[in-house]
Amino acid sequence: LTIQIDEQKIIVKIKNLSPKRVLFSAPDGLLLKAYEIANKIKKKYYIETFVSVDPCYGACDTLSYEIEKLDVDLVVHIGHNRSKNRIFKKTLFIEAFDDISFYEILNDALSLIKKYKKIGLCTISQHLHELIPSKDFLENHDIKVLIGRGNGLLEDGQILGCEFYSVYNIRDKVDAFVILGQSNFHAIGLELATGKSTFQLDPYMKKIISVSQHTEKSFKKAFLSIIKARDAERFGIIIGLKEGQMNVKKALNIKKKLEDCGKEVGIIVMREIFDDRLALLKKNIDVFIQTACPRISIDGCTFSSLVLSIPQIEALFKLWKGENIENFLRKTSWH
Ligand code: SF4
Repeated sequence: LTIQIDEQKIIVKIKNLSPKRVLFSAPDGLLLKAYEIANKIKKKYYIETFVSVDPCYGACDTLSYEIEKLDVDLVVHIGHNRSKNRIFKKTLFIEAFDDISFYEILNDALSLIKKYKKIGLCTISQHLHELIPSKDFLENHDIKVLIGRGNGLLEDGQILGCEFYSVYNIRDKVDAFVILGQSNFHAIGLELATGKSTFQLDPYMKKIISVSQHTEKSFKKAFLSIIKARDAERFGIIIGLKEGQMNVKKALNIKKKLEDCGKEVGIIVMREIFDDRLALLKKNIDVFIQTACPRISIDGCTFSSLVLSIPQIEALFKLWKGENIENFLRKTSWH
């Protein structure tokens, strides 16, 4: 495994805070490592450590309820980062860095990248340290490279599955994007949000991947759902209960707009948005609008009910007004 976790940072925090109970959480791929770290810390500092084995999809997936219920003094959230607000309601974010090198795959991609006058470069949190060395490498081969500024929670050149500030804001200045990493989920999001050709450089498989076919598929799926919702009368707005995903204001805002259009609207709350739970209300709700994670209903999951995300409902409002919605995903953020 080439993942590096800064355990020292956790230890410093524990020494400063002297917590009695610490809760660890991590995405699936790092869960075992989180469990090992928690055990190590428990033995060394004589504190109670708990490990959450619930799914943890992003920096948005924080454990606010568990903090209170389990009476923990600190949550160590491994594997996702926030550039600002590093302590977020008792939560310490610890990045996981992947130390795999990109030189080989960058070298293989040179002839392809050289076809473009200027490229935008970006990545996801675990490869952020590779961004500047990769830019230098490409520039040493006479390729013009632009890295967009971060915003809010994001570092320069970083994207999330739903936040694209660093790429969207430079899209008109570059001819294509290159994303470092193995996640085609992020590459597809990048291409959908910017509308620019995107190449994903996968250092493990040593592959240069054009994601355009997947992008097209995701776009069609998201677009068709909006069209299918056109004549719906009864809407159910879902508020996600995960602290980083909860958006009550937005949900109420959408509710008001729908009611102004003469629609029947109910608000429902849930932590994990599962199809079988939604099915329980299917008889009374034609379309669900989930305000939690936009990717769930854009291209992440398959539902037996019609489920829209925030950019999709915004597009539906436009559609009702007879406006063009083809670019509904071209945005800095899908929240
Ligand atoms: S795409 Fe979904 S899981 Fe990922 S950061 Fe955004 S809201 Fe969270």
